[in-house]
Amino acid sequence: TNNRPHVLIVARLPQHLLDLLQQHYTCHNLILQPHSEAELAAIAPQIRGIAANGEAKVSREFMARFPALEIVSVFGVGYDGVDVPAARERGIHVTHTPDVLNDDVADLAMALMLATARNVVRADRFARSGEWKKGPFPFTTKVSGARLGIVGLGRIGQAIAKRAAAFDMQISYHNRSRKDVPYTYVDSITALAREVDFLVMITPGGAGTRALVNAEVLEALGPKGFLINVARGSVVDEAALIAALKTGVIAGAGLDVFADEPNVPAELAALDNVVLTPHMASGTLVTRTAMADLAFNNLQAHFSGAGVISPVPD
Ligand code: NDP
Repeated sequence: TNNRPHVLIVARLPQHLLDLLQQHYTCHNLILQPHSEAELAAIAPQIRGIAANGEAKVSREFMARFPALEIVSVFGVGYDGVDVPAARERGIHVTHTPDVLNDDVADLAMALMLATARNVVRADRFARSGEWKKGPFPFTTKVSGARLGIVGLGRIGQAIAKRAAAFDMQISYHNRSRKDVPYTYVDSITALAREVDFLVMITPGGAGTRALVNAEVLEALGPKGFLINVARGSVVDEAALIAALKTGVIAGAGLDVFADEPNVPAELAALDNVVLTPHMASGTLVTRTAMADLAFNNLQAHFSGAGVISPVPD
C-alpha cells in the first residue's frame, strides 16, 4: 500500500466517498485535519489527485503547489471553484458527476415551483397552528397549464421540461444557443421573463452567468411571476431579488441556492412569499451515493490507466 496514490481532500464530502478514498488511496483531508503551511508543503510533492466539490476553490495558485498533480475529481456537476484553463495548461484532468443527479434536481425544481405558487409551507403552518379555525386559507396560484421559462436547457433543464410537460405547462427556454427541442426558444432572458409565469434558473455558475437575473429581469417577470433558482446563488442579484420580493415587483421565489452559503440573508428568511431549501436539490441517498461512486470511479479509472469517465467539457 506504500505506492498508493496520494489524494488531497479539499471539501466536505459524504462518508461513503471518504470511505472509498480511504480504502484505495493515501488520503490527506484538509477539512477534517486542517494542515499548517509547513504540513501542506511537506506532503505537496506526493499529491497526485484532489477530491473536491462544486464550491471548493481549486485555483491556479493552489494547484501550482502540487507539481505531481494529475487529476481533480469534483463531487457534483457544477465546478465553478476549479480553474479549468489553469488545469488544462498543465494537462491535469478535471472530472465531475453529470447526469446521475438530473432527476433529483428536476424534482426539487418542481417541488419549489409547486410549494411557492401553492404556498405549501405557509399552508402547513396554517393547518398546524389552528389558524384555520379563524377562516379559510387565502387563494393560491395555479401551476398546471401555466407558462414556464427555463434558463439553461441542458441535462437538468430538459429533465425539468419533461416534468413540466406532464403538468401541461407551456414551455419556453433561453440558452446562449438554440437546441433541437420541441420548446420555444427566446433569445434574451428579459424577453423570456416577460412571457412567463415561472422563470427557472438552471445554468452553471461562475463568471459567465453572474447576476443573469437582475432588477430588469425581475421587473419583466412582473407581479404575478415566480422565480425558481436551483442553479447557483451567483446567477441572481440577491439584493435586487430581496427588493423585488418586498415590494411586489415579483410574486414570489423558490430558492435552493444563495450568494453566500450557508448564510441566508435575514431579510429573505423574514419573507412569506419565498420557499427556501439548503442547497439540497441532489440530496437524496440514492443520488449522493451515485455521485460519490462516480467521483471515486473517475479517480480509479485515471490511476488504473483507463482514462477518466466524465471529464468536464471544454
Ligand atoms: P449542462 O451543461 O447540461 O446545462 C447547462 C445549460 O446552461 C446549457 O444548456 C447551456 O446552454 C446553458 N447556459 C450556460 N451558460 C449560459 C448563459 N450564460 N446564459 C444562458 N444559458 C447558459 O449542465 P447541467 O444541466 O448538468 O447542470 C446545470 C447546473 O445546475 C450546474 O452547473 C450547477 O450549477 C447546477 N446544479 C445545482 C444543483 C443544486 O444542488 N441546486 C445540483 C446540480 C446542478 P448554452 O451553452 O447554449 O448557453
